[in-house]
Amino acid sequence: METYDVILIGAGHNGLVCAAYLLKAGYRVLLLEQRSVPGGAATTEEAMPQAAPGFRFNLCAIDHEFIHLGPVVQELGLTRYGLDYLTCDPVVFCPQPDGTMFLAHKSVEQTCAAIAAYSEHDAQAYAEFTRYWQRLGNAIAPLFNAPPMAIFEIIRNYGWDNLKDLRTVMGSKIKVLDFVRNMITSPTELLDEWFDSETVKAPLARLAAEIGAPPSQKGIAVGAMMMAMRHHPGMSRPRGGTGALTQALVNLVQDQGGTILTEQTVKRVLIDEGRAVGVEVANGTEYRAIKGVISNIDAQRLFLHLVEPSDVNAVDDQLRDRLQRRVVNNNETILKIDCALSEPPRFEAYEHKDEYLVGSVLIADSVKHVEKAHALCTVGEIPDADPSAYVVCPTVLDPSMAPEGKHTLWVEFFAPYQIAGAEGTGLNGTGWTDELKNQVADRVLDKIATYAPNLQRSVIARRVESPAELARRLGATKGNYYHLDMTLDQMIFFRPLPELADYTTPIDNLYLTGAGTHPGGSISGMPGRNCARVFLQQQHPLAQRWEDAQNHLRTLLKAALGDE
Ligand SMILES: Cc1cc2nc3c(=O)[nH]c(=O)nc-3n(C[C@H](O)[C@H](O)[C@H](O)COP(=O)(O)OP(=O)(O)OC[C@H]3O[C@@H](n4cnc5c(N)ncnc54)[C@H](O)[C@@H]3O)c2cc1C
Repeated sequence: METYDVILIGAGHNGLVCAAYLLKAGYRVLLLEQRSVPGGAATTEEAMPQAAPGFRFNLCAIDHEFIHLGPVVQELGLTRYGLDYLTCDPVVFCPQPDGTMFLAHKSVEQTCAAIAAYSEHDAQAYAEFTRYWQRLGNAIAPLFNAPPMAIFEIIRNYGWDNLKDLRTVMGSKIKVLDFVRNMITSPTELLDEWFDSETVKAPLARLAAEIGAPPSQKGIAVGAMMMAMRHHPGMSRPRGGTGALTQALVNLVQDQGGTILTEQTVKRVLIDEGRAVGVEVANGTEYRAIKGVISNIDAQRLFLHLVEPSDVNAVDDQLRDRLQRRVVNNNETILKIDCALSEPPRFEAYEHKDEYLVGSVLIADSVKHVEKAHALCTVGEIPDADPSAYVVCPTVLDPSMAPEGKHTLWVEFFAPYQIAGAEGTGLNGTGWTDELKNQVADRVLDKIATYAPNLQRSVIARRVESPAELARRLGATKGNYYHLDMTLDQMIFFRPLPELADYTTPIDNLYLTGAGTHPGGSISGMPGRNCARVFLQQQHPLAQRWEDAQNHLRTLLKAALGDE
């Protein structure tokens, strides 16, 4: 039986990041991935080799912001392993039915100048609003880059800039209360407070609600940071697609002697006297882990499907029940459309410029439009009567992703996992069939074509993935690509549950990482890094602290000497 120090269940980007840190610390690491390629929701694939050879598609994530709030890229030296980020500018284009448009550049000033053309008030408010959320983001970023209960580590993450911003956003009683209120209110209310014009509110609501809930939902106004981050630290995409991030991590893992085995679905975690000692995969092969088993899949899947109930109950007889009843996945996921195009979409009625296609194109006609896009999913209805969508033409920024002169289209459409009234039919009883997903895709593309009329005739081939298919591909509960909802009650030390929030579990040597742990989903690598640090601190408490102290001292010295 093959033996390693650490085994990771799943090779999503967080699993790979975690493995990279452990390999660098000298551990022998095995990653077991169910799919034929590593990366999870961070892959770029030639998804239609027959119909569209040479076209490469980001099957899931495309726009990277959160990873730039942490040190993963620099610490792991990922550029040496082939990662090259391309910066998006402009970052958002959102045409409106009344002929106006929201065009946001990376520069806040340039964005405000464009807003001023239809609302002087909103232009001024936008500058202030963005400044607030940027400062807030910078003030709380140190919390993202540490386990939520590691107070000393969080404090140590604070640099001068973070402290300055913390003081600006929370430096008085009123500011603290405003912060609390901003955390518990909804994006809709927050946007109504700041802005008059629907042209500004609609795209901001669409981005805030990328958290995966209707903009009217209390407790998700922090999603406002999604737009602020596009200005600073900015939005970018790896050259070659999101899969190039995964490939850089794979290169690093292999370079450091790590092993990645694909098409290996973990079926069971082996527990011996309350301690994780290995895993068994679908074909019956067992792999042993001396120091730890780390799960890149979420706590529900881990404890309810991969660990024997008696082993869980032996260490915590409430845990299965709490995971089943308390962890929330609200039925909303994504129907994904990828197209190979003969030419890019053209927004003729908006004095088309190719720069509109560099960032994300948001089909969000009003805040109400965005509201329906999410709220209907919650009750199991498909919001395709008048679809809202997040659209990207990745080949405008990165022509290497398609044959010369050709383009691709990436479309994200929120859709329910379980269709109400269709229980027990379609794929996995969700109600989703090939016919239905194609009907919905037709409506979504028709809607985009109301803005870009050349779209329909430029489609060479398309791939539509229903929510049920997405869930199956990712192995994600109800297709939740954040592993569990990102609402405030499931964040920080509540993620996924307070007793599991520091990446450890009640079973010795069994750890959790991935989107289902702090600070949550998206492309950040932070859960992977934080989990690796917890593991290493448990293995070598003194060595890890000594190394951290040295790194901290180095950073302080660099800052004092003005050396970036
Ligand atoms: C359509 C779509 C668009 C998105 N767009 C963006 C975006 O633009 N920007 C952004 O930041 N985020 C985006 N996201 C979210 C982001 O991609 C994810 O939150 C993130 O990639 C999760 O990474 P992870 O490593 O934590 O988990 P995952 O990527 O889910 O990795 C888990 C891995 O475990 C594997 N696995 C599951 N079960 C088993 C098993 N039993 N045995 C072995 N392996 C197993 C899976 O195959 C997978 O590889 C998007 C997601 C989707 C679906």
